[in-house]
Amino acid sequence: MPTRGHCLCKQTLWEFDGDISWACYCHCDDCRRNCSAPVVAWLGVPLHNFRWIGAPPKTRESSPGVFRHFCATCGAPMGFEASHYSGGMHLFAASLENPDRFTPTFHVNYQSKLPWLRMNDDLPKYDGTLLHAAGDPGACAT
Ligand SMILES: [Zn+2]
Ligand SMILES: [Zn+2]
Repeated sequence: MPTRGHCLCKQTLWEFDGDISWACYCHCDDCRRNCSAPVVAWLGVPLHNFRWIGAPPKTRESSPGVFRHFCATCGAPMGFEASHYSGGMHLFAASLENPDRFTPTFHVNYQSKLPWLRMNDDLPKYDGTLLHAAGDPGACAT
């Protein structure tokens, strides 16, 4: 059974086979602004296990080698790919069909956390990006 997710209007959908590679919160300003949210929960999957279903997303290259996918109809952010994370698709945990089953295991860019955001977990908290926290972003983070 693949794991599925969708946007707000349900025109753009995705699915992947197998396990996720890592699951985290990101506190960086780019993620926050991309989602207009105080923190963003992400999961990574191997690109070869991933596919878009339904309407294909639109894609914007937000900086060289960084591609942000979003629903062409409702505009919801849907995915992230980057040349420095080759072979992986990053997906938003909140777009999962069953986001309640998601379990984040660490924080990245914790130095950028908004001061008014209170998160009382005891997960590892890394300053710096996923590359600092997860090593090979295609590998399991734990
Ligand atoms: Zn949509
Ligand atoms: Zn981020």
